[in-house]
Amino acid sequence: MLHSDICIAGAGVIGLSLALELHARNLRVTVIESGHPFREASWAAAGMLAAQDPHNPLELSALAQLSVALYEQFLERIETLGGLAVPFQTSRTLQSIGPSGSRHAPLAGTLFDSSANTFPVPPAYRLIHEHSIDPRQLSASLFAALAATSIRLLAQTLVVSTKSTSSGVEITTSSGTIEAAHFIDCTGAWAGNPDYLVIPIKGQMLAVELPADFQIDTTLRTADIYVVPRTIGPRAGQAIIGATVEDIGFDKTLHASQIDELRQQAIHLLPELAGANLLDAWSGLRPATSDRLPIIGPHPTRPHHWISTGHYRNGILLAPGTARVLGQLIVGGTISVPLGAFSPLRESLRNTAAQ
Ligand SMILES: Cc1cc2nc3c(=O)[nH]c(=O)nc-3n(C[C@H](O)[C@H](O)[C@H](O)COP(=O)(O)OP(=O)(O)OC[C@H]3O[C@@H](n4cnc5c(N)ncnc54)[C@H](O)[C@@H]3O)c2cc1C
Repeated sequence: MLHSDICIAGAGVIGLSLALELHARNLRVTVIESGHPFREASWAAAGMLAAQDPHNPLELSALAQLSVALYEQFLERIETLGGLAVPFQTSRTLQSIGPSGSRHAPLAGTLFDSSANTFPVPPAYRLIHEHSIDPRQLSASLFAALAATSIRLLAQTLVVSTKSTSSGVEITTSSGTIEAAHFIDCTGAWAGNPDYLVIPIKGQMLAVELPADFQIDTTLRTADIYVVPRTIGPRAGQAIIGATVEDIGFDKTLHASQIDELRQQAIHLLPELAGANLLDAWSGLRPATSDRLPIIGPHPTRPHHWISTGHYRNGILLAPGTARVLGQLIVGGTISVPLGAFSPLRESLRNTAAQ
């Protein structure tokens, strides 16, 4: 039987960031992934670190600010360990302040001329200083960082069940049993458990190749759509356009009509995108709770079990902050931000009330 201090289920951005955080606290960590690591929601994400998106729930703001404050050191640590950098792709966002469904006038392409000294903000928009990264670059760098540590990553291994014991948790997987002092559920949209309900919210997205005379370095975001340019690395010169928000269960089917609708909405905002070639389209399943806030903390009834899921539209942003506070909770120490809004108990109580 394999022994570990920590067993994490799920190798998305939340599970892998937590693995690094707990390893840095001198704990032996094993991560179990049922499929390929980092190939679900985390792979699908646009990579905006949208802490100041006015559509985020207010309760998210302290954790989001903590994550923003930790992001550079999080990326530096990954680079130091594995040797692969994760550069910021963009550093500013033009955010529409209108609600969903607002009619937006097309924006002048000259607005995005990065050689211009000033950045005139059009009416009904505000300029936000926020970064974005390419989650697929983060994935490659995280794997290199993990390989330089003693963290064990078991791919294509399903966590089937867990049982509290006097000294920790016994974890039954599709290829054997693991004993650990702590078990942490980071299975994203699959964290469905009668105690804390998480649902998948599908997002479809596309990537286009920007025309040579329309290379932009600013993210554009409204309540309904975003355009996120890639400026450095293998995808430089591309832009990600997203995303649908669909509550239809575990279904990742791509629909050409919805991809085209996203594209047309983006062209309406930025007419220069009419000349952009479609490169790729994909979908992912965001882990969502009923109040759209994550669940972070100890399991309400099962000793030595912890939960970290439900990061919905902001898991790339929230990963370093979540890893930090969960590390503080597990090892014992001052918690950087209040976690009441993310208590597993609230979901548990809600489910009990609904029965
Ligand atoms: C289209 C789209 C765009 C997005 N854009 C952004 C963005 O711009 N910025 C941002 O911050 N966030 C964004 N997000 C949200 C972000 O991607 C998610 O919040 C985040 O990836 C969730 O990470 P996770 O590790 O919890 O889940 P996942 O990445 O889904 O990882 C969970 C893992 O658990 C594994 N698993 C499931 N069950 C088991 C089991 N029983 N045993 C072992 N392993 C199991 C799965 O295979 C999976 O690999 C976007 C999401 C989508 C879909």
